[in-house]
Amino acid sequence: MDLFQNVKAVQEKIAAAARAAGRDPGEITLCAATKVQSNDTIRAAIAAGIQVCGENRVQELTAHLEANAYSGAQVHFIGHLQTNKVKQVVGRVELIHSVDSPHLLQAVARQAEKLGLVQDILLEVNIAGEESKGGVRPEALPELAELVLASNFVRLRGLMAIPPVSTVSGANRKYFSQMRNLFVDIMKKMSDNQSVMDCLSMGMSADFEDAIAEGATLVRVGTALFGPRPPMGSPC
Ligand SMILES: *Cc1c(COP(=O)(O)O)cnc(C)c1O
Repeated sequence: MDLFQNVKAVQEKIAAAARAAGRDPGEITLCAATKVQSNDTIRAAIAAGIQVCGENRVQELTAHLEANAYSGAQVHFIGHLQTNKVKQVVGRVELIHSVDSPHLLQAVARQAEKLGLVQDILLEVNIAGEESKGGVRPEALPELAELVLASNFVRLRGLMAIPPVSTVSGANRKYFSQMRNLFVDIMKKMSDNQSVMDCLSMGMSADFEDAIAEGATLVRVGTALFGPRPPMGSPC
């Protein structure tokens, strides 16, 4: 695996997908999904041009922060976040992608207040209505967005979704398109306050080009950069 070449190849595909959609490639952020990667691999990815790392698990985030592995890049939290772990995340990452309930939102806001800062967040939407996944139902999104606005310690930056793993090209386009519509709706509702709705986080290795065609401003890519991961739960 040549990480440097993979980074260049993904960056080029992002740029090509953007241009094909009549968009400026500069509008799209590549977030490297670094779960299970070592400190050295993360450093190498940053040296190869990665500017944003997305971490899934609190334990890995904490270990990489302690090792100073993200130096030179932003860090985002993209995984499911448990309320009892917000202390290890709030104020340590630029953006939390996965706020999906009033309970979690309040925990994040409380911790941000304690630290005297404003935490940027995305609201995660369960766009395909999958039982097994986190994310707020689209119908409940406006109410959750209102709660963000009511707090001085969290700032809404946009929306995030993890649709089903796509096996055929184009399979997730309808979900990406629905996300884009939700994003535009919420943006209109927010237009009279100070929130900056600039992030629509969707698309992974198998479908980031489709996501860009439908309006993604941030894609989260792991496998296409780092190669296949060991199966979940196996020692690595
Ligand atoms: C692992 C992960 C990704 C990247 O998945 P790949 O298919 O390896 O590109 C993106 N988003 C989240 C939330 C992830 O956990």
